Amino acid sequence: MKFVKRISEDVTKTMTAKENMGLIHVACIGYFYMLAVSSLSSLLFIAFPAIYRDEESYFFHMICAMFIFINMIGNQILGASYKSFYTNGLLLPNPPKSWILCLSCQQHCPPRSHHCPVCRVCVLKRDHHCYFFKTCVGIRNLRYFLPYSFYVGFGSIYTIVQMLSYLNYSYYPVEASFTSLFYYTYPGALYSYFWSKENLFNLNKFICLTVTYGCGMTGFASSFYFLSELFLLIRGQTIYEFGKDIRRYNLGWWKNVRVVLWPWSILYFLVPLPLPTREINAPWGIPKFVKGV
Ligand SMILES: [Zn+2]
Ligand SMILES: [Zn+2]
Repeated sequence: MKFVKRISEDVTKTMTAKENMGLIHVACIGYFYMLAVSSLSSLLFIAFPAIYRDEESYFFHMICAMFIFINMIGNQILGASYKSFYTNGLLLPNPPKSWILCLSCQQHCPPRSHHCPVCRVCVLKRDHHCYFFKTCVGIRNLRYFLPYSFYVGFGSIYTIVQMLSYLNYSYYPVEASFTSLFYYTYPGALYSYFWSKENLFNLNKFICLTVTYGCGMTGFASSFYFLSELFLLIRGQTIYEFGKDIRRYNLGWWKNVRVVLWPWSILYFLVPLPLPTREINAPWGIPKFVKGV
């Protein structure tokens, strides 16, 4: 009876943890899409018509904003679709020296693989679990994570600059003074809406101010992620290997970059390309001999 009770308690705990993880994923992906759509629409319909009066400048910035948006969304979809799971492995009698035994999955995994406690599977060349992709960043989707984090960072900075130009023009001058700082906080905006004689604040400006704050937080985090992943890519390491100072898989910076971004290299940063990675054939990719054993 006690044994049954303990098992049911464990199952309930596991279910709750799974539901919590599901909620975190929904919150992160929901936040990303909400911020992306609200940034694009407030740029196109509020900020640009006010600051770019001539058709040419409006058209140029509209193309810029759409380009960033397409790259962000495209890489998020591809990154979430290309999973790096390794689920059909076996327990080998004589595994190669560098292989890892995963007790949770009861299988031997190629080097650089790690078990993800969130995905609950082994992940090939695991880097980290990405809540915005709802999966781990590994061998198949690092090539999408790099442009994704780049465009989220760049798009956030671009949006902040445009929003501040709009607010500077139509709300309050952006300057290094206490009054300006106060007006760009929510209490300052509320004061301007209810009590200020000029009554400059309205719903459009509230949306722009909120988008600026959202982009500020997101831009800082994603720029940090992009720069650190670029640093690791050049060194030929994952986050885990960097922590343990493992340099065994370093092929030289050019080859490290090429192996991940093969065959279109810089084009991955210009257009989201759904192409399978060749790195899957590397010693840390899917082992060939396991098939058909
Ligand atoms: Zn595992
Ligand atoms: Zn994971």
